[in-house]
Amino acid sequence: MKTFCILSAFALVGTCATTKYTTKIQNLKDSITIVDSTLVVKYSNTITAKELSKALYIISSDTFEGRKTGEKGQKLATQFLKDYYIKEEIASPFGDSIYYQTIPESFFSNNIKASENVLAYIEGSEKPNELIIISAHLDHLGIEETGEIFNGADDNGSGTTAIMEIAQAFQKAKKDGHGPKRSILFLHLTAEEIGTQGSLYYTQNPIFHLENTIANLNIDMIGRVDNIHKEDKNYIYLIGSDRLSKELHYLSEKVNNTYFNIDLDYRFNAENDENHYYSRSDHYNFASQGIPVIFYFNGEHADYHKTTDTPEKIDYQLLQNRTRLIFATTWQLANQPNRLVVDTKNQLLLN
Ligand SMILES: [Zn+2]
Repeated sequence: MKTFCILSAFALVGTCATTKYTTKIQNLKDSITIVDSTLVVKYSNTITAKELSKALYIISSDTFEGRKTGEKGQKLATQFLKDYYIKEEIASPFGDSIYYQTIPESFFSNNIKASENVLAYIEGSEKPNELIIISAHLDHLGIEETGEIFNGADDNGSGTTAIMEIAQAFQKAKKDGHGPKRSILFLHLTAEEIGTQGSLYYTQNPIFHLENTIANLNIDMIGRVDNIHKEDKNYIYLIGSDRLSKELHYLSEKVNNTYFNIDLDYRFNAENDENHYYSRSDHYNFASQGIPVIFYFNGEHADYHKTTDTPEKIDYQLLQNRTRLIFATTWQLANQPNRLVVDTKNQLLLN
């Protein structure tokens, strides 16, 4: 009897050990349960093309002089964001009305002046120490030598206004008694265009412990369509989603399949992709710290980094749908029972 039992135990272990990778992935997919679907629909519907358009026309107007890091236009943009969060009654993580994380001039080179990240925050009701960061850079290229302004409507007025609308939707939910269980930081980064310096500064001087930062969703250009998708524009590129957490990847897919059915295009996520987008925007500084990330991006277009990246060229319906996807993904991360699992610890992928 005894011998038989031991053999059985070995046999069982043997069976587990040969569980196919595809089965494990299926188990992981099945383990993800969408939470609060009625509420997600209700509050994602408060994110509208009209409101995104209104904010984007302001942030990409000539008044902001191309939002160059450390210059007057960038300071006006940070002030605009701060005023917005005060009006929306969304708190600063610093308390009071201090919404800025100031980066000193000494951090930069090439005579760049001191500059600011803008931070707004909604504390979680049940697990306040676990944090999701939604980020987008607010800076752009300033003024061309000819005097033309780089309005940066897509890059990255689109991501900036997406965060504003997502924050507003979460705050509405909170006021109705449906605040997020985990905390959310709305992080508007400066100095991306000069080498992702704003996110580097944040990760070197984090306001919340990085080990409790469970994910970073980074948005950089989501208001336009690239040449590849001219025929079917219901798409968005996702980069990085499966690199550090398979759960994040399948959670993101499940949220999209449940509510939106946007074509999630992963072609730029290939490890050998020659564009290296994974390491080219702010999320990479979080990924370098082991924090799972998703980078949302519409690809490059003829107006990329030109003074012709203007707000009338944005597809506001598309911007709305993509913003809603990011909102719903954040909701799931903030409210699902388990904390997002990084792959090195992912029990569901072991054996
Ligand atoms: Zn950008």
